[in-house]
Amino acid sequence: MTSFIIAHLYPNLMNLYGDRGNLICLQKRLEWLGYDCRVKSLDIGDEWNFADVDMIFMGGGSDREQSLVYDDLQCKKEELWREIKNGFPVLFICGSYQLLGSYYLTGQGFKMEGLNYFDFFSEGGPKRLIGNIVVEVKNNNETYQVIGFENHGGYTYFNDTTLRPWGKVIKGHGNNGKDHTEGIIFNNLIGTYLHGPLLPKNPAVADFFIRVMMARKGINIDSGCLTDKIENYARQQVLAKVMKIKS
Ligand code: GLN
Repeated sequence: MTSFIIAHLYPNLMNLYGDRGNLICLQKRLEWLGYDCRVKSLDIGDEWNFADVDMIFMGGGSDREQSLVYDDLQCKKEELWREIKNGFPVLFICGSYQLLGSYYLTGQGFKMEGLNYFDFFSEGGPKRLIGNIVVEVKNNNETYQVIGFENHGGYTYFNDTTLRPWGKVIKGHGNNGKDHTEGIIFNNLIGTYLHGPLLPKNPAVADFFIRVMMARKGINIDSGCLTDKIENYARQQVLAKVMKIKS
């Protein structure tokens, strides 16, 4: 049986608002498609070997927890960037999304150097951006409404205007609450503020990653057997509720 391994970076530090549910979702969907999927935890000081894993996932974290993992990540910076450029599938949520830029300056004035892959920065804003969020993204050449939950003090701004935000905010705050952008997409990397967890609420995004993981093993996804009937019903209920709320 073909098996997949997803690396979960710093699971004890970077894991907020149900982020681990993203891994359970990927595991379950792969299982339903007839594959095996294991999650491998990688903690501070652990060696990474990209040849052994099919995808990388990191959740969000408090400012303190973020600062603890930043140093460790700096040691893996070159290797990770090489893989991202080669199309390695990566999902980074909130605090881990922020570190892909040049820096994160917390509201308390503490500055963390980012990995500098992209020319954007994050700075603590006047109030935390909290609540349910709906974002329109392009997924598999179709427009898809992504639903999630955000809670961040950092506001993210792109210096480089050629960077591609992941989506457009329909409801909620996104990168900075002003320019209606949300997250970033680059090759097969998605950085986003959306907790929720993201993937169970948005199975099409889970399938984006599954498709990439499979293609890298030379398999074409046939997700026809996953009807997503229950998931879509749940999505409709949440969408209706969120879109009704005044922001
Ligand atoms: N600590 C960061 C912030 O408040 C990220 C929070 C998170 O991951 N939810 O902006």
